[in-house]
Amino acid sequence: MHTDSAPGGDSTARDGTSASPDRAEVSFGFTIESRLDPGSRTRSPYSLGQGSVHGRTGVIRTPHGDIQTPAFIPVGTKATVKAVRPEEMRELGAQALLANAYHLYLQPGADLVDEAGGLAAFMNWHGPTFTDSGGFQVMSLGSGFKKVISMEAAADKAGFDDDATAAGKERLSFVDDDGVNFKSHLDGSLHRFTPEISMRVQHQLGADIMFAFDELTTLMNSRAYQEESLERTRLWAIRCIEEHKKLTAERSAPGFAGLPGGKPYQALFGVIQGAQYEDLRRKACRDLGAMDFDGYGIGGALEKESLGTIVGWCNDELPEDRPRHLLGISEPNDMFTAVRAGADTFDCVQPSRVARNGAVYTAYGRYNVNNAASERNWDPIEPGCECYTCQNYSRAYLRHLFKAKEMLFSTLCTIHNEHYTVRLVEKMREAIADGTFDEYEEETLGRFYGSGPAGQRG
Ligand SMILES: [Zn+2]
Repeated sequence: MHTDSAPGGDSTARDGTSASPDRAEVSFGFTIESRLDPGSRTRSPYSLGQGSVHGRTGVIRTPHGDIQTPAFIPVGTKATVKAVRPEEMRELGAQALLANAYHLYLQPGADLVDEAGGLAAFMNWHGPTFTDSGGFQVMSLGSGFKKVISMEAAADKAGFDDDATAAGKERLSFVDDDGVNFKSHLDGSLHRFTPEISMRVQHQLGADIMFAFDELTTLMNSRAYQEESLERTRLWAIRCIEEHKKLTAERSAPGFAGLPGGKPYQALFGVIQGAQYEDLRRKACRDLGAMDFDGYGIGGALEKESLGTIVGWCNDELPEDRPRHLLGISEPNDMFTAVRAGADTFDCVQPSRVARNGAVYTAYGRYNVNNAASERNWDPIEPGCECYTCQNYSRAYLRHLFKAKEMLFSTLCTIHNEHYTVRLVEKMREAIADGTFDEYEEETLGRFYGSGPAGQRG
């Protein structure tokens, strides 16, 4: 399963079908192309923690196409990036999309997506896709913390509480050694996820990159609970790999679902937990690093200020030749910090979520296009921006759409924000390759966080 492909490089390739030597075609792999100078140091006061430097550029190969890394992976929770057509996502530079297994399992059902030919075909996205394991949503919606679990938990450090839920929220999920029982956030119906069920759901969804089912803890959990949970996640990782191999053999067999070559190989990434504890993070990386995963996801609760330090610990330990995905970050300084510490890909709902509320990103920070200063402003959101929105529409028009509650507002602002974020990370890739990453970070973050509100300028 672990074969060399490209000559003389740091490269792995896995096809998951080593049993059939006639199928020599490699369907998943990763090649490192250049590395950030290990002496690289941030000169930006906006960077978050400074751990080991593991930044690199590379290419992830999948059956649906290549991903040039580092890359930002936009989120299409329910098999759509809200308000934007797939063609527009492609045009603005998105290379891959990430959908959520939990949401698609509840609605419309993983079997239906399978029948459609998998996530990419179902949503008319002609490129690579990721699905998360469902664990994050099951457990974060279950404890009522939603997406910002680590931040909310960090806000209240009065004490540890293993049964904590967000204020006023009923607990909807219960973890045992075998899996998690949870109530649907849609209709309150009861469901159960285990490592095997998550693997089956994700194989049916058919994304190129899937994640192992893990337990999500919060910073409010006690150290004893974090240890117990980490061991559970380790045992679940073993079960995920076993089930994954079984499903791969079954579904990639010639003739499966009427396909002469069977279904294309789906890569499986293990997920690293361990919260803010260095020894637990390193142990998780060594344990899962020795397993037969195609790549790794770094997940779990952490304080934003420690992002670089924690991702650095993980990438000290993880096998260098596998891609690493950082699960769920949000702002430009998170992204520079993550890439410096060696994250190859990361996903983020923030650009589209804030766009729908009117907040847009520019080189000089974020501002609200609904502000009074935009009323008769005939400039685009950001002069010089090459996105479709900035090429064609004024701030005045966008403000009008917002005021009139027109749907096109969400579409146009999302296109700009996704383009901004994709380009920011593309330029990080260029800056690593040409040895100017430190300068690029200092200049970009200085401008983004350092000046006054961008919407007030001219
Ligand atoms: Zn733009």
